Amino acid sequence: AKSNGKNGYAMFEPSMRSRAVERLRLTNAFDGALEREEFYLEFQPQFALDGGRLEGFEALVRWHHPTLGALSPMRFIPLAEETGFIVPLGRWVLERACAAAAGWPATPEGALTMSVNLSPRQLIDPHLVADVAGALRRSGLAGEQLVIEITETSLVTDARRSVDALHKIKKMGVRVAVDDFGTGYSSLGQLRNFPIDILKIDKSFVDQLAGERTDGFGLVEAIIRLAHELDLSTVAEGIEDTAQRERLTQMGCWSGQGFLMSRPLSQRVAENVARRAASE
Ligand code: C2E
Ligand code: CA
Ligand code: CA
Ligand code: CA
Repeated sequence: AKSNGKNGYAMFEPSMRSRAVERLRLTNAFDGALEREEFYLEFQPQFALDGGRLEGFEALVRWHHPTLGALSPMRFIPLAEETGFIVPLGRWVLERACAAAAGWPATPEGALTMSVNLSPRQLIDPHLVADVAGALRRSGLAGEQLVIEITETSLVTDARRSVDALHKIKKMGVRVAVDDFGTGYSSLGQLRNFPIDILKIDKSFVDQLAGERTDGFGLVEAIIRLAHELDLSTVAEGIEDTAQRERLTQMGCWSGQGFLMSRPLSQRVAENVARRAASE
């Protein structure tokens, strides 16, 4: 705390103070926000990297806060996770994402997938399995169309309970992706013990495939090669230029998403993209 010479008020570091104020403000504003319909989803398309066929979408939540305006999930998901609000919020996301995808047509190559992010707290929530089953049943979406994205950290927090829930969810045909792989503490060896299908290659690795420097290539290659050895498919995130896309394809990663192909889209635009792909 610094003292303000002029009027004698003790002052916190402005950044510290405003962060604490924002946390309190956001936590209070969670109350009733779902009922007031302040959250909405955007959908980022995922494509086959070779040929560009649309494969599906990832649902990404946004908050239209009454006074702060549109908020990025980076600003409120960690807080929702801490306070437990992520459980009802995550249930809402799952419900809405399944309902949206159920209304979109299949492409000539098959049904589009919908990927939904699940935070660690949701994975140990005793209602998760019933929530997934309910979202599928109410929407009519086939389990095979749903992918849940979990993080490495959720696998280490309560492994027994998480693995048990994942097995039950996989029985519905749902696939499991490990998000942001490589940024946490687990190793590929540990992944063998978890019922997963897909490895998402984090943007921080994809970033290393841009430009002239090649020293980061080996790491990405190793991740893709080991994923194949574990029979996992790979999806790259954060692809921003054609060099990254081409290098990923050469390394054996066949699916991805990123601003190069498309930013996250509103539900209306995403639906149009799905319809266009279906009529091609
Ligand atoms: P994520 O799951 O790793 O999602 C990918 C993030 O990267 C998204 O940010 C997306 O907009 C952004 N992105 C995609 N392509 C590019 C690119 O080419 N360049 C750059 N710079 N960014 C790209 P977003 O929507 O802000 O979401 C941030 C994080 O918030 C997500 O990271 C995820 O961890 C979390 N999140 C979002 N929606 C949900 C949700 O419904 N539930 C939970 N639990 N977490 C969510
Ligand atoms: Ca994700
Ligand atoms: Ca990710
Ligand atoms: Ca990421």
